[in-house]
Amino acid sequence: MSGPEKLTDLRGIGPALAEKLQRLNVHTPDDLLFLLPQRYEDRTRVTAIGSLRPGNRCVIEGDVELTEVVFRRRRTMLCRVSDGTGILTLRFFYFSKAQQNTLARGQRVRCYGEVRSGPGGFEMVHPEYQLLNKNKPEPLEQQLTAVYPTTEGLQQFRLRGLLEQVLKTRINDLPELLPQSLLNAQQLPSLQEALLCLHNPPANIELHELIDGKHPAQRRLALEEILAHHLSMRRIKLDNDKEPGLPMKTDNTLLNDFLSSLRFQLTGDQQQTLADIQQDLYKPHPMMRLIQGDVGCGKTVVAAAAALTAINSGYQVVIMAPTELLAEQHRDNFQTWFQPLGITVAWLTGSITGKARAAAYEGIAAGHAQLIIGTHALFQDAVAYHKLGLVVVDEQHRFGVEQRLSLIEKSGTGKRQPHQLVMTATPIPRTLAMTLYADLDTSVIAELPPGRTPVTTVAVAEQRRGEVVARIKEACKGGQRAYWVCPLIDDSEALDYSAAETTFAMLQEALPELAVGLIHGRMKAAEKDRTMKAFAAGELNLLVATTVIEVGVDVPEATLMVIENAERMGLSQLHQLRGRVGRGADKSACVLMYKSPLSNIAHTRLNVMRETNDGFVVAQQDLELRGPGEVLGKRQTGAMQLRVADLIRDADLLPAVQSAANAILQQDEKVAQEIINRWIGNHQEFVKV
Ligand code: ADP
Ligand code: MG
Repeated sequence: MSGPEKLTDLRGIGPALAEKLQRLNVHTPDDLLFLLPQRYEDRTRVTAIGSLRPGNRCVIEGDVELTEVVFRRRRTMLCRVSDGTGILTLRFFYFSKAQQNTLARGQRVRCYGEVRSGPGGFEMVHPEYQLLNKNKPEPLEQQLTAVYPTTEGLQQFRLRGLLEQVLKTRINDLPELLPQSLLNAQQLPSLQEALLCLHNPPANIELHELIDGKHPAQRRLALEEILAHHLSMRRIKLDNDKEPGLPMKTDNTLLNDFLSSLRFQLTGDQQQTLADIQQDLYKPHPMMRLIQGDVGCGKTVVAAAAALTAINSGYQVVIMAPTELLAEQHRDNFQTWFQPLGITVAWLTGSITGKARAAAYEGIAAGHAQLIIGTHALFQDAVAYHKLGLVVVDEQHRFGVEQRLSLIEKSGTGKRQPHQLVMTATPIPRTLAMTLYADLDTSVIAELPPGRTPVTTVAVAEQRRGEVVARIKEACKGGQRAYWVCPLIDDSEALDYSAAETTFAMLQEALPELAVGLIHGRMKAAEKDRTMKAFAAGELNLLVATTVIEVGVDVPEATLMVIENAERMGLSQLHQLRGRVGRGADKSACVLMYKSPLSNIAHTRLNVMRETNDGFVVAQQDLELRGPGEVLGKRQTGAMQLRVADLIRDADLLPAVQSAANAILQQDEKVAQEIINRWIGNHQEFVKV
């Protein structure tokens, strides 16, 4: 390979400029080639003034009719330009006497800027302009003008100059890493063609494709970028599959006792998932498996079964939940299930302090605690496990490389890594899952337990609150149980709480014949617990709640849910909340109360909720409305830091990514590494918990 390797080897780059470029994540001359324009300006043609529209960014040409300095709120130079089709005003707040003089009547000018409506018609504020000689026409740009992302003190023309240089000296040395067959099949250009096109787009390019990020040159780079991330996750998985693990060995008496104690049979999907997990647990390498399944599909029972396999083999098991309330609920479930089996369940969350905390640490370290349930506190420094064999993580958190190392250190199992089971209720399309979760094996529970009836969802304007209250009264008098979920207020727990208090008082007054309870995040654990139990036992008819009940709460007898200010909530949150009803055989309903006027996006969300109960459909819509970062959590997708690609826009490329990854890994692992290095660098920063 020839050509410069360090930024400072390039002409015109000294240490100061190199430092600025590093701020743009440009460390080598090749990185410059991958610094793609943010947008493009079209300076290849002149637009007639008469056809301008506000918001247009374009070139106009005309003769100065009048230049004057006016004093309104501030001193302003106005220059009226005409091209025979219309008149445009150029507005300057900063100008010199010399400028004023050169823009004399009759002078021809060419301007580039954004058109807006001004007091006297269309205008451009501080356009770039050049004076033209009427007898000697200046040629227009031949190509679209690239506008690069930049940083303080680094001007566009410097960047353009540098790119011109690297495009000449470096681009021929850039190796093509994608198989020609793939490019042909996808009808995509080579790397060189793609980069040349994006840095110097020809004037006749499909501009709308380029703006939408759908030009073949962009798609070609997006494909390679997604492939790089996919390959790096596959690499992690391949490495993981060679790590020493903790092969389980058991006759499964505990598991069999548990299964026969349940009042139901596992569904086919649950059985299959359990079989997948057990196969992994018996292997001498750590499991990294994801269970994907909609709210209420019965992931918890499967996790319990997995836990029993590990406990029966003499290992400790940890179950980590995202919130305290959910951890509490798991604790109650697991205690009910596991106590009869003689298993000790321990409990560790952030709110457990002092002596209780010390006692928990001790039980964990000594190995008395066989199953430990809690929140993030489970992985704080002071916790040391006796013999940790399985970690179950509820909801989408994944351990990065560093966390995995510290997990091994804490686990008390020498250099062997505990098995990991991750559960998520965000069902995402298969191809996307295969890309995002390429470091995990996946089991899907698609089937809901039998006897569920779909929830009927209606949207009701807030003004009809009275009707909704009347409906609750009827339902509860007929023996049903209902939730009333209170609005989220500015993400403030204090305000949520006071809104819930107010609603609680209102409902108590309006429904004196019903037993109404209140639950919110600020209550003491014991108090929350008592309220939940009273509701589960039917002592309360109506439970007023903040969104603390969003995850995991399980009272099969509840059949009615009212969600206030539903217009403020995201789709997956609404779906999670709604998942609290429709868990029994009785017909359930969900009332989405909203405040008018609805924004377009809120309107769409409420419609999606009314039209479907299918978590896959909801998740797909949510992905389209909000994008994967918001839906799956920044932790999940943020680590990807995609520069060119967009997982939703480019979703149709995902199958090609799959098959390309398979082919490349089979043929030449070195190419895989080069692709990873090009896009992600040598240091693989991985998803952090
Ligand atoms: P998830 O965690 O997937 O949202 P849960 O594990 O909380 O769902 O299960 C929801 C409800 O369904 C619980 O009441 C659970 O006991 C019940 N359940 C789970 N599996 C079955 C099954 N195979 N048949 C009947 N009920 C089931
Ligand atoms: Mg759950």
